[in-house]
Amino acid sequence: MARVVDGDGFAVSLWAATAPAGPELPALEGAIEADVAIVGAGFSGLSTALHLAEAAPGLAIALLEAEEPGFGASGRNNGQVIPTLTRPDPDDLVARLGPERGERFVALVRDSAAFTFALIRRLAIACDAVQAGWIQPAHSPERFERVSRRRFEQWARRGAEVELLEPKRLAERLGSAAWCGGWAARTGGHLNPLAFARGLARAVVARGIRLFARSPVTGLERQGGRWRLETPRGRVEARRVLLATAAYSGPATGALARSFVPFRPWMLASEPLGDNVRRTVVPGGEAVSDTRADLRFLRWTADGRLVSGGALALPLAERARLERRVGAVLGEAFPPLRGLRFDFAWSGAIALTPDRHPHLLRLGPELYAWIGCNGRGVALAIALGPHLAALLAGEDERALPLPLEAPAPVPLSGLAAALGRLALPYYRWLDSRP
Ligand SMILES: Cc1cc2nc3c(=O)[nH]c(=O)nc-3n(C[C@H](O)[C@H](O)[C@H](O)COP(=O)(O)OP(=O)(O)OC[C@H]3O[C@@H](n4cnc5c(N)ncnc54)[C@H](O)[C@@H]3O)c2cc1C
Repeated sequence: MARVVDGDGFAVSLWAATAPAGPELPALEGAIEADVAIVGAGFSGLSTALHLAEAAPGLAIALLEAEEPGFGASGRNNGQVIPTLTRPDPDDLVARLGPERGERFVALVRDSAAFTFALIRRLAIACDAVQAGWIQPAHSPERFERVSRRRFEQWARRGAEVELLEPKRLAERLGSAAWCGGWAARTGGHLNPLAFARGLARAVVARGIRLFARSPVTGLERQGGRWRLETPRGRVEARRVLLATAAYSGPATGALARSFVPFRPWMLASEPLGDNVRRTVVPGGEAVSDTRADLRFLRWTADGRLVSGGALALPLAERARLERRVGAVLGEAFPPLRGLRFDFAWSGAIALTPDRHPHLLRLGPELYAWIGCNGRGVALAIALGPHLAALLAGEDERALPLPLEAPAPVPLSGLAAALGRLALPYYRWLDSRP
């Protein structure tokens, strides 16, 4: 079977070079039956499968992955474990979802990083998990007053372990005066995401779930009250299906593939740096991502590299241009990083929704998906797992932390995907304003 061509992606990442091997997995051959089929073995599919197997041990679960576990965004991201969404704040979520469900979803997001690290400890997954906290520095004094204070206040009111960092305190925490104060969530941190995905895959297999690699679902049809999923050499018949394909959703996923805009940022991993630099640049080892729409972010790895990245409006000589740009940004913010060299560069796809909210979708009878990580889905995908599992176990959907919605196609989604990156200059203009 032809493998997905993904030259700047999965195989060339730092994570692919450093994560322990995943479990040996078969491709699907022939026809099988299952109670539940899950498509996509990223954090969403793996966490859902794991929690479903634990909650309903007798259930027959098949998990189908086009390539290998972690092949999508889950194995390529920056590894920041962040207990907030990108844009909507707690009060926005409550305004949209109503007081009861809204507060339940806010609590899920608040606890998502702690839940993720607890899962890693419970399953003893070796993935360089560091729960040192997550910091969001503000890129202007106005954003500190307007954004950081608001977020800190809204999360503190809901019992989150957060702190407000006045400019002087933030500069000490970062080892840089390039930002203007910020706030931090103590339960956040970072990890090697591919090592985590592979560890989850091992745990899933150990619980008796049939996990197939190199088995892309090419067709999905309803027949006789059940779903039939076709792969190049096999077929699954299942009562309930979850599409956990996120930004990698293709034509076989129907309306799901038109319900988001894919966005492809790059990750850059530096050469290993000495302890002298490590002691001065974010010495506490927190994960950092700032308030810009054209995000600036960084985190350390276990072997002393900084992993940062970004995106460019024009897809020309991206790696070289991005290395110059990110190198200059980091060198300006942290003088010890001037002249930084990068050993690894790779990209991956994120699913953006027009309203920047995550959505839980009903795509047909007993056919579900969630979409819209909007760049912040490590902890969220893991924490949604038990709730998606409850849905697939047939529990009352009123208990879900998000309502089940019909998919809303993004107008001209193909064009938006092609042109989405052209919005970057506009984002930079927004970032330059108070
Ligand atoms: C470059 C980058 C950096 C990011 N950084 C962060 C970060 O630091 N912190 C954070 O919180 N979030 C981050 N994110 C977002 C985060 O990685 C995602 O939200 C999360 O991994 C989504 O997990 P998922 O399981 O829903 O989807 P994915 O991990 O994308 O998994 C989807 C899977 O479905 C499979 N698939 C697709 N079609 C089929 C098919 N037809 N048949 C079978 N399988 C199929 C794919 O191969 C893939 O493995 C980042 C994302 C990217 C791309």
